[in-house]
Amino acid sequence: MLPSSVLFFGLLGLAFKSRPSQIWRVRAIVLVLGPGIVLVGYGDQLWRLAQGGFDAEYYFSMSVWIIFSCALYVFLLPSRYSWRFAFAYYLLSLAMLGMGLAYNSFTLPSVVSNDIILNDVIAPPVFIALLSAFTRLRTEYAAAKAQANDLRELTLVDGLTGLQNRRAFSQSFKRAKARLLRNKTPLCAMIFDIDHFKSVNDTFGHHVGDEVICKLGEVLSQQLRGTDEVFRWGGEEFAALLDETPSARLMEVAQRVRLAVQNAKLLPQRPVTISIGATHVLPQDTEESVFQRADAALYRSKQEGRNRVTIADETQQPATDSNPG
Ligand code: GH3
Ligand code: MG
Ligand code: MG
Repeated sequence: MLPSSVLFFGLLGLAFKSRPSQIWRVRAIVLVLGPGIVLVGYGDQLWRLAQGGFDAEYYFSMSVWIIFSCALYVFLLPSRYSWRFAFAYYLLSLAMLGMGLAYNSFTLPSVVSNDIILNDVIAPPVFIALLSAFTRLRTEYAAAKAQANDLRELTLVDGLTGLQNRRAFSQSFKRAKARLLRNKTPLCAMIFDIDHFKSVNDTFGHHVGDEVICKLGEVLSQQLRGTDEVFRWGGEEFAALLDETPSARLMEVAQRVRLAVQNAKLLPQRPVTISIGATHVLPQDTEESVFQRADAALYRSKQEGRNRVTIADETQQPATDSNPG
């Protein structure tokens, strides 16, 4: 059995190391050749047994090989087929054993007969059943886990724009705040609101309004850096968390975004603009306090005439930079 074992394990190694594009070809070879080699070895030894006499040790070692081959089927084939193949293989080995014994007309000592029944007849199907149940449970557990992950992600994604939603903002804010406290890197938050959006809906319909919301989400994502996060806050309002944005740059970034939205021509028929409220996040801030400050700044932008940016001064009144254009 030594050459067969070397070949068998060689093939097994090949199956697990093969590239994904080759995996099925290699698996097919393993599934045919691996157990095939075992069966040929089995037949050969049964033949020799018929010539020579009974060797109890030989039966035991064969059952281990047969169980091993069944395990190969269970692990390498999709669960739908695996137990059938493993079971067919077991029946084949059983038939060979039966033929070998029938051909060999000597009577077996009862201890050896019991060994054969236990090792060759009972052990393989029990093993196949246990292994199949185990792999099935493992597959089902992995599928359930993936489904739970998908569902969890769905609760964090806005259905219309595909951006993260307000619930996701809470989680991102916690993470960003932890980074702020640990690394002392500046963190900023912005709220964006479309100007006179009701009249867009009233004039062109809700469907067109939805398209404008989607396009705005795209423009905001394009304008901010990959490390910044954009969220649909609700309705026609968006929010963003900007990591590592120093005070001096906040107005510049916000104005760039505002102008980009104005120039993006979200509606061909008329200009669509946004107002922005922005603020720095302080170490003692909560999600609510940040939101209140940014919202107050946004309100100020609206009051000052819309299409403008207001940066909330954490210590004083909000400072507005009109500069529309
Ligand atoms: P302002 O410049 O003061 O912001 O004026 P506005 O008309 O934009 O006022 P507001 O921000 O309060 O308007 C929100 C409107 O957005 C009301 C609602 O009809 C509309 N809206 C909210 N969610 C959606 C949505 O998912 N799709 C569409 N099409 N419209 C929405
Ligand atoms: Mg609004
Ligand atoms: Mg609005």
